[in-house]
Amino acid sequence: MSSTNFDSDLAIVGAGPAGSCAAWESVKYKPGVSVSIFEEHSNIGRPLQCSGLVATDGLRNLGLNLTKLNYNKIKRAKFIAPNFSSFDINRGKDSMVVIDRVALDNYLAERARTNGCEYHLEHRVNQIHFDDNGWILYINHKKKKKIHRSKVLVSAEGVHARLTRSIGLSPPDRNWLFPALQYEFEDTQDVDPDCVELYFGRKYAPGFFGWFIPINENSVRLGIAVEPRFKGKRRLFLKQFRKHPFLKDRFKNSKITNSYGGYVPVSGPVKITYHKSFMVIGDAAGQSKATTGGGINIGGYCGRLAGLMARKIILEELPSLKACRDYQNQWRTLFEPNLSLMKLFRRILTPLPDETWNEIIKIGRETDIGGSLSTSHIDLHGIGLLKHALRPRVFMKSFHAIPQAVSSLFREFIS
Ligand SMILES: Cc1cc2nc3c(=O)[nH]c(=O)nc-3n(C[C@H](O)[C@H](O)[C@H](O)COP(=O)(O)OP(=O)(O)OC[C@H]3O[C@@H](n4cnc5c(N)ncnc54)[C@H](O)[C@@H]3O)c2cc1C
Repeated sequence: MSSTNFDSDLAIVGAGPAGSCAAWESVKYKPGVSVSIFEEHSNIGRPLQCSGLVATDGLRNLGLNLTKLNYNKIKRAKFIAPNFSSFDINRGKDSMVVIDRVALDNYLAERARTNGCEYHLEHRVNQIHFDDNGWILYINHKKKKKIHRSKVLVSAEGVHARLTRSIGLSPPDRNWLFPALQYEFEDTQDVDPDCVELYFGRKYAPGFFGWFIPINENSVRLGIAVEPRFKGKRRLFLKQFRKHPFLKDRFKNSKITNSYGGYVPVSGPVKITYHKSFMVIGDAAGQSKATTGGGINIGGYCGRLAGLMARKIILEELPSLKACRDYQNQWRTLFEPNLSLMKLFRRILTPLPDETWNEIIKIGRETDIGGSLSTSHIDLHGIGLLKHALRPRVFMKSFHAIPQAVSSLFREFIS
């Protein structure tokens, strides 16, 4: 379909889940449009930067056939306070799964590729420029320089959003990209494969939490994310976390099979996610849950919305600016209220001292937070959390946290 002026109708930067979902959505219908996706790494899904814990419903919304992936079903989440007290949320059904993230990214890429999308690996897009004819991408490929022209451009370049920034759009706030480190272990003892464990406390994961995610009966992912000021101490915190009284014996005979880092995106949604024939999706648009850092499902779904709009521009069904604006309106309507509430919760939760965490876990147990959240969609738990926090019993018990909440609200309001 691409006109002679363009190398492809649509170019996408980044072959993560958001980029590949956008690609698939734009190529899966007839008439075809031509799509090129540029990825700087030589392998899709690598280097790995993920724990692979995802809500099943959200994965289905990406149009995925779950039987094509290997996964471990999760039924419960355990929240553990610094003083070791805890509560469980038991959804009782397979509401979450732990997937192999490399396999997921490759599955999504293959799906787009078999529908005609072209993947260009080891192609780093260094610069982008808009002229009257569309977008020009300046690319490095194995010491060679290339130029690619496209009518529409989608940025799916992940948290750092360098290209997005280069054209004057705001990237996710760097102060809210939390450095993370994770090890994968084999031969771990006492693993309940149905249950994810989340550990709170400044000794192990200041500002965020540590996670123990079962891959099967004897393999787990153990990781932490921390406030950016502790970036250089990630390894120390993870070492300390491994010695947590609930964990140390379980790792006595286990060995590390993998280690990876990355930045957990907890910045909340960015304000402007489009420009002329240009849309930003996934982590680059802050389309992830600031409470947990999970971004596969929502980013992937927003990718689908952007792919559809790109198609409408290319087929001249909608004027470019209107289509891009529609993309932004659509994803905001679907996700922004929840994402913004999660961002607010993150702002309130991050600076909390251990004593308040002990109190929160106690309140969570006494007020059946699991019951309140069991009706909300896992990926959209912002409103469920707010409703729970506003229940009179919870509100009264949390009274001392109100000054912190008000100051966070104030900071949000003036930012
Ligand atoms: C430790 C850790 C654990 C996580 N665990 C979970 C989890 O359990 N569940 C969950 O839902 N989310 C999790 N996340 C978040 C999740 O990984 C992201 O939300 C998700 O990867 C976002 O997808 P994306 O497609 O927007 O970006 P990415 O997956 O980051 O993909 C962006 C791609 O763009 C490429 N790229 C960037 N710039 C260029 C360029 N200039 N030229 C060419 N290519 C470029 C990059 O190489 C990359 O492949 C975790 C994150 C971390 C760090």
